[in-house]
Amino acid sequence: MYADLHIHSTASDGIHAPDKIVDFALKKGLSVISLTDHDSTDGIDQAVEAARGTHLEVIPGIEINSDWEETEVHILGYYLDYNLRSFQDTLDEIRQTREERAKKMVDKLADIGVVLTYEQVKRIAGEATICRPHIAQAMIEGGYVSSIKDAFDRYLSRGKPGYVPRTKLDPFSAIAIIERAEGIPVLAHPGLSKRDDLIPALVKKGLLGIEVYYPFHTTDMVDNYRWFCQKYGLVMTGGTDYHGPGTEYPHLGEVGVEKKSVDNLKLMRSFLD
Ligand code: AMP
Ligand code: MN
Ligand code: MN
Ligand code: MN
Repeated sequence: MYADLHIHSTASDGIHAPDKIVDFALKKGLSVISLTDHDSTDGIDQAVEAARGTHLEVIPGIEINSDWEETEVHILGYYLDYNLRSFQDTLDEIRQTREERAKKMVDKLADIGVVLTYEQVKRIAGEATICRPHIAQAMIEGGYVSSIKDAFDRYLSRGKPGYVPRTKLDPFSAIAIIERAEGIPVLAHPGLSKRDDLIPALVKKGLLGIEVYYPFHTTDMVDNYRWFCQKYGLVMTGGTDYHGPGTEYPHLGEVGVEKKSVDNLKLMRSFLD
């Protein structure tokens, strides 16, 4: 594989630090990776530094989770001008709402006898964007669940007793946030969201790509999203959504895209300048 364009690090809910991911990517023979942490670009500098002097390109990326009606719609952003102050201010605000949400989840869990403290969750997350897997980790430490998956299945998935929704952000706003940093907005894993009806409106608002290649996309889904890309002139991207060992698809670099897609992303970015 040439490029894996969907990877999480310890800047959000990934298990490995950015420099470790760079080591793995080099061992796997990848040429390009993108760190796409949830609501954070804080891992990028370390990854870029670790890749310096090697052939590996690190594309500055992000994944912004948004909601539309009852469905989560995630937007990836690539080639971000991530040091832009107004962009970082917006990410800070989003992460702040996640802290409030985590506190509410801790309270909700306490009501049903799963006693954690917010400080414990915060210690596990460290500097990272607080995500549900950090709460799951605290539940493992407390002996309430046997694994992250167990925590989601019994408590943390939507509809389960510990679940609190994130502050609503719609996908059009997520696109606008990425555009603010001159990034390329891409619809993440559309086969999971199953909201193809939104694609035309998202394209009108500036969507420039679709994550066609994804571990849980069937061949029919891949064909369908290739068709959307051709119809609307969108770039096809792909990646593993790697979060580390023991997570849903722990195979860095096994799904992704060839050089042509990365070249197309670069070309699109050059049009924005
Ligand atoms: P959050 O952004 O705080 O809502 O947390 C969502 C994150 O939890 C996702 O990005 C996944 O990494 C992880 N996740 C979601 N569902 C599951 C699941 N069923 N099992 C394990 N991890 C999950
Ligand atoms: Mn995640
Ligand atoms: Mn996602
Ligand atoms: Mn992801």
